[in-house]
Amino acid sequence: MNIAVYPGSFDPITNGHLDIIERTTKIVDKLIVAVAVDSKKSTLFSAQERTEMIKETTKNVEKVEVKSFSGLLTDFVKKNKASIIVRGMRAISDFEHESQLALMNKRLAPEIETIFMVTCYKYSYLNSSIVKEIASLNGNISQLVPEIVEKNLKTLFFNEKA
Ligand code: ADP
Repeated sequence: MNIAVYPGSFDPITNGHLDIIERTTKIVDKLIVAVAVDSKKSTLFSAQERTEMIKETTKNVEKVEVKSFSGLLTDFVKKNKASIIVRGMRAISDFEHESQLALMNKRLAPEIETIFMVTCYKYSYLNSSIVKEIASLNGNISQLVPEIVEKNLKTLFFNEKA
């Protein structure tokens, strides 16, 4: 059974992440979306909130499980009997950081392969930070994130329901 792990901060999940999740489930038997608890980035949402939003968003996507993790990613991958790490690749600017991570993970656990899913064109400029910035300025993010995320961002920034 091919089990893959898609790790990230997901602060919050965007339609770009969701696209990677949906496409990856077509080529693996099971996909574990792994929310980094001790992300280097300071996050807007808690690990629990980030996890809940992904669960809600992916509840109808088959083969997906959502978990949070702390510590080494390679340890989490092994503990879950997975053998693949999935990452998204948007622009050439992602390449340097992503290849460094992949090579370090290969060194730590040679039996685990990293695969890159190239983002679909319409989400290639999208990341969680830009979504948070637009939302904080009351811009329209409805095409960029799942409904639950839009609602939570509005509540957080303007204390109002979407
Ligand atoms: P991290 O802090 O690990 O980079 P992110 O939540 O920012 O966490 O990203 C998780 C993964 O999703 C990364 O591989 C990133 O390249 C990918 N990703 C983020 N946004 C998009 C997008 N719009 N399209 C495709 N992949 C994306």
